[in-house]
Amino acid sequence: MAKVVCVLYDDPVDGYPTAYARDGLPKLENYPGGQTLPTPKAIDFQPGVLLGSVSGELGLRKFLESQGHSLVVTSDKDGPDSVFERELVDADIVISQPFWPAYLTAERIGKASKLKLAITAGIGSDHVDLQAAMDHGITVAEVTYCNSISVSEHVVMMILSLARNYIPSYQWVMKGGWNIADCVARSYDIEGMEIGTVGAGRIGTAVLRRLKPFDVRLHYTDRHRLPDSLEKELGARFHQTAAEMVPICDVVTINAPLHPETENLFDEAMIASMKRGAYLVNTARGKICNRDAVARALASGQLAGYAGDVWFPQPAPKDHPWRSMPHHGMTPHISGSSLSAQARYAAGTREILECWFEGKPIREEYLIVASGKLAGAGAHSYSAGDATSGSEEAARFKS
Ligand code: NDP
Repeated sequence: MAKVVCVLYDDPVDGYPTAYARDGLPKLENYPGGQTLPTPKAIDFQPGVLLGSVSGELGLRKFLESQGHSLVVTSDKDGPDSVFERELVDADIVISQPFWPAYLTAERIGKASKLKLAITAGIGSDHVDLQAAMDHGITVAEVTYCNSISVSEHVVMMILSLARNYIPSYQWVMKGGWNIADCVARSYDIEGMEIGTVGAGRIGTAVLRRLKPFDVRLHYTDRHRLPDSLEKELGARFHQTAAEMVPICDVVTINAPLHPETENLFDEAMIASMKRGAYLVNTARGKICNRDAVARALASGQLAGYAGDVWFPQPAPKDHPWRSMPHHGMTPHISGSSLSAQARYAAGTREILECWFEGKPIREEYLIVASGKLAGAGAHSYSAGDATSGSEEAARFKS
């Protein structure tokens, strides 16, 4: 019987919800392109309820305990005295979400001698030292596509809110003001702008599709070029590298995984090569952008705005410069954890667990690491190595 340790974010400060803003979720058949939604044999939750926080338990307790497995759920994940670090020692399976990542560093993997499976209830397994997972024969799987569309909607929202100066204008209303000139002195239409995505996978392509009707000029860079027909349909121009693409763009959105190739890609030099007054939207991973270079570029006016929901580490310490830099539109890591997305990644996590316990293969598109090497989606989109260094800083949030 397996011991499953699941790290989830805290419940709402006012307690686990007893009522919701809407009565249900729209029913979707497939993801764009035809990939099927998660296919567990059953689910023990109502789609649309809060599953990603501790009391939601990803809807897994009944399923696991009815089969004799044990489930530990905690939000206490950072530092050597954390519940996660204590429970990890004899865990067979760890489940974590990128929003509140349980960093599985080489050191922690070294202590977890029974660990065989690390599931990301979401997309992006960079909180796991993938090299260490390969070395220790740990399978890493994520719920590919579960929240890609959720994030693409968020990206479009953030591009528009930065360019149109939405957040400061909202704040004038809240202050009881009516200061139109203050609101519009930094407000632009995106029509006619050059907008580029770094990464044109599931999220990047969905962002391009959603932006096309705004009559903007679209660009992308990716390790693999999109099919000709799709490039034509989107009217998107391919660039071999991010360095080649960004000087042309008024807006850059980052939609590539964090791995050794993309870590610190947006450093001082890359940001300096952008147009003065460009907007940068990063919902991929905080470490892809250099923390201090972003803050400096906003202060100097090199960037007109920066938005996103990803930080490093997470949770971000209270003195993280992105909390207080000018002209930002940051949120905590939420874009992939809408109630809609939660229903999909909870079901996908259950699907992965069902396969694992029954000895059936996990879908190729969910695999990141298997049999000691990058596999499935991981072999396509990641490079080998580790992107967790510095994650121990997350413990500072508590202090
Ligand atoms: P996909 O795997 O579908 O797309 C990622 C794309 O990035 C792939 O096309 C990949 O290329 C490309 N890529 C990889 N390395 C590079 C590089 N060096 N330069 C340019 N492109 C590169 O994943 P998704 O679109 O679903 O998700 C992308 C990322 O977004 C996730 O890895 C995760 O980090 C983040 N994310 C954030 C969420 C949030 O809540 N904020 C939620 C979900 C995801 P190829 O495969 O062609 O080699």
